[in-house]
Amino acid sequence: MEQERFDLPQLGQDSSRTYRLGIMGGTFDPIHNGHLVAAEQAYDDLNLDLVVFMPAGSPAFKQGKKIASGEDRYAMTLLATSDNPHFVASRFEVDRPGITYTSETLRLLKEHYPQNVELYFITGADAIADIVRWNNSASIAKNATLVGATRPGYNLDKAAGAIDSSGIDFHVIYLEVPALAISSSYLRERVAKGQSLRYLTPDSVTGYLHKHQLYGAKAGKYAR
Ligand code: NAP
Repeated sequence: MEQERFDLPQLGQDSSRTYRLGIMGGTFDPIHNGHLVAAEQAYDDLNLDLVVFMPAGSPAFKQGKKIASGEDRYAMTLLATSDNPHFVASRFEVDRPGITYTSETLRLLKEHYPQNVELYFITGADAIADIVRWNNSASIAKNATLVGATRPGYNLDKAAGAIDSSGIDFHVIYLEVPALAISSSYLRERVAKGQSLRYLTPDSVTGYLHKHQLYGAKAGKYAR
């Protein structure tokens, strides 16, 4: 499948240097401060040039599960990232029909960017622990370094064990992110109970999900 139009940032113009592009992959249902802090930490610690947030259009392991639409998840991601000069939100996966396979995303990105752009795929360490079950995971290993964001105290044995026994040469970096005590499911539960999301996600996201009555939100209830 070829995507005719890309909303991807330009990178790789200076052929005398290497660029490092972070791809923040997730369902972002909804995006929260844990995701934003994780991306900022990856940007700093790994010397990334930019981080592109890419909400999955139709997440592979969430088929048949109820999630907010790609448009809503993209809109909230756009709002949450809009004031950070090295964050970009992209429709790249939301606009691709069919199940969202990371291997396909990374293959298309590799084709799109010049060779001096290196890809860092950032997501939750729980998701990475399962990567051997992902579609064409050997090609993921070839095209990107994986960055697994963890909560403090997270036991890496499962992820490390699965990766070590896979026989595939994955490059994985783990980042401990205290703010990942926040989760999307915690936010959804709070919204449904009419509780405040202040300091858990940007106010613009809170406003959006109430305006569009996502996750059982009642219009107007958020201003508390
Ligand atoms: P998930 O199973 O919903 O998430 C697992 C854990 O990781 C949750 O605790 C989640 O917290 C956290 N998490 C998810 N994305 C994160 C991020 N970018 N930064 C920090 N923590 C994150 O995972 P998912 O959202 O379905 O998938 C994650 C990514 O892996 C997506 O880009 C997806 O397309 C890709 N993936 C690909 C395949 C495949 O190609 N076959 C299969 C599975 C996943 P929150 O709920 O708070 O986000």
